[in-house]
Amino acid sequence: MSRRLLIAGNWKMNLDSRGATALARAVKHEIVQRKLDRDVMLAPPYPYLDTVARALEGTPILLAGQDLSRHESGAFTGEVSAGMLIDLGCHGTLVGHSERREHGGDTDDTVRAKLERAIRSGLSAVLCVGESESVRETGAAASMAFVEGQLAAALAGLTEEECAKALTIAYEPVWAIGTGKTASTSDAAAMHAHLRASVANLYSEALASRLRILYGGSVNAANAADILGASEIDGVLVGGASLKIESFGTIYRAGAA
Ligand code: PEP
Repeated sequence: MSRRLLIAGNWKMNLDSRGATALARAVKHEIVQRKLDRDVMLAPPYPYLDTVARALEGTPILLAGQDLSRHESGAFTGEVSAGMLIDLGCHGTLVGHSERREHGGDTDDTVRAKLERAIRSGLSAVLCVGESESVRETGAAASMAFVEGQLAAALAGLTEEECAKALTIAYEPVWAIGTGKTASTSDAAAMHAHLRASVANLYSEALASRLRILYGGSVNAANAADILGASEIDGVLVGGASLKIESFGTIYRAGAA
């Protein structure tokens, strides 16, 4: 089954209001001009969601949060709810990014709860999974078992219909994020195939064959065409290289006919 590619940019904690607006306008210009048969998603920092939403108005570019609260509302100082993201025009959100797991204390259980909250509130979700360097050093089989465990824990409360409607998976080996190291395309494709088989085991072949699985980890203008050329890889989640229109634009166009 052919799956439409998704090119997603995670701006992390970068830019200011002016820079975010300028970058959003530049991405809009690129997408409106090229009109490629691919989806684009941008995840700016929370304070710039509104300004970026305005800059993207009238385009098919999907706006996303970088995270969300597991709670619906209430006394949770510093947190941002699914409803707030929707109110600001978000289509989706990242969930379980390794930087939230590492610095924000997100456990598998938190990730499961956030994923359910996002999807049941009407957001689409990009669920991030990936092994650390220390797990990777123990071998490919151990890495696959680890990532499969993260996936199963995150999906534990979701129905097949919910996954079909709103879920995308991003395989992001932690050792490749922001390091300039990337998984080889063949290693990434093998992990994607394993994740797809895991989804088939957990739910069904039908869901597995339609679910998008992105790769993330030091994707840049030079390696994007090779990565996007692998049939198991349905798009990319890009951090550092999404902050400049030159590199993000090149990634958006990479490998397109
Ligand atoms: C990310 O933030 O999800 C990511 C993959 O970052 P980078 O592209 O900078 O490695």
